[in-house]
Amino acid sequence: MNICVIGTGYVGLVTGVCLAEFGMNLICVDNDHQKIHLLQQGKVPVYEPGLEDLVIKNLREGRLSFSMSIEEGVTSSLVVFIAVGTPSHDDGSADLRAAEEVAKEIGRYMDGYKVVVVKSTVPVGTCRRLRKLIQETQARPIPFDIVSNPEFQREGSAIEDFMRPDRVTIGAESEQAIAIMKDIYSALYLIETPFVITSLETAEMIKYAANTFLATKVSFINEIANLCEMMGADVHHVAKAMGLDGRIGKKFLHPGPGYGGSCFPKDTRALSRMAKEKGYTFKILDSVIEVNEEQRKRMVNKIEEKVGDLRGKTIGILGLTFKPNTNDIRESSSIAIIQSLLTMGAKVKAFDPVAIEETKAILPEVEYGKDAYDVASGCDALVLVTEWNQFRRLDLPRLKNLLKTPIFIDLRNVYEPHQMKRLGFNYCGVGR
Ligand code: NAD
Repeated sequence: MNICVIGTGYVGLVTGVCLAEFGMNLICVDNDHQKIHLLQQGKVPVYEPGLEDLVIKNLREGRLSFSMSIEEGVTSSLVVFIAVGTPSHDDGSADLRAAEEVAKEIGRYMDGYKVVVVKSTVPVGTCRRLRKLIQETQARPIPFDIVSNPEFQREGSAIEDFMRPDRVTIGAESEQAIAIMKDIYSALYLIETPFVITSLETAEMIKYAANTFLATKVSFINEIANLCEMMGADVHHVAKAMGLDGRIGKKFLHPGPGYGGSCFPKDTRALSRMAKEKGYTFKILDSVIEVNEEQRKRMVNKIEEKVGDLRGKTIGILGLTFKPNTNDIRESSSIAIIQSLLTMGAKVKAFDPVAIEETKAILPEVEYGKDAYDVASGCDALVLVTEWNQFRRLDLPRLKNLLKTPIFIDLRNVYEPHQMKRLGFNYCGVGR
């Protein structure tokens, strides 16, 4: 089957490459010339474990190609995936300009029956609107189907998530489109992946409901952590015991500096906005968003409590990405915390295993070190913000000697408080 994916960012590229790996012929399109040029040479512009190897393999085996031309992609394919970004507008609603522009192009170049699959996370009702846009831009009426097929992959483990998903969600209104989608994902039938086949609107809502629920878990455990600090309890044990309850589950119960990344912040805001547009206040979700913003401020307060007046102090930051195993710094808590520290007059030194270049572009005033030790040298405090594996087994006595004052603030609870104290650190974690 010939398939086109428009938008080769984190989601589009993983989708295209994994479908090629399933044996289909893929043409991946993007309007970013530099990105396409790199990909054509087998170079992946994002950090995602295992992705480059799969790109090179499928390019070599002739199932994968990259292009700047939507016309080429659409005319050569039966199925066209839309995987462009849907960032936030200032009012929290999703910015659908890229998706709309792509839909019009698809309509313009449609030369026969196609299935147009919306993989981007889009507000409920968008697929139906995109279908209308495609119809309006067709030169003559050509039948096609629209499908909502939201993506649940996590950056850092995106290939595994795509190849072994918890479920595949398909929103569609035509038997033919459903049959084609089942064919595309037939490899997943063999591993008994559950399929949820439903309406367009329901599929769109499933994505928002899932993401906002996970964000709720994060904000909930962060509030429990804050109470633990006030009441002398240890959130680490609380979360563990809660998670062992099968009705709750242990994932997304890790207290820390708040959720970030390219999905949770924008998707929580977008669903809250969608609710408001219908005259409904989604009270729990609004609190989740507020708690997350507060949590970042609390982390800055934590640093200030330990260090004192931040003016003229040097703070070392370990980790810039919103989570490990990605170079994505979009809405990263680390970036927000650094910005607050700079505003409060501190100097910041930072290290991240993969995202220094990306961060330099937005925070040129930060001094970037070559590793954790380089960053710690001469600092008034060291703050662990992203739990990369590289930061899990640090040479702590060496770090302590390098720091001007042995303050270690562990926003991911990587280290044990009593051990850190025994080593002579002035240590604090979150909720312990
Ligand atoms: P991204 O910003 O990394 O990639 C979007 C790509 O689309 C970019 O390469 C951009 O150049 C391209 N693009 C934009 N306009 C275009 C146009 N007119 N023609 C061709 N290409 C165009 O975004 P992403 O993180 O891959 O997310 C894409 C969608 O998937 C979003 O809706 C997001 O919410 C959703 N999603 C993301 C993740 C994730 O982990 N990143 C997970 C699940 C769902």
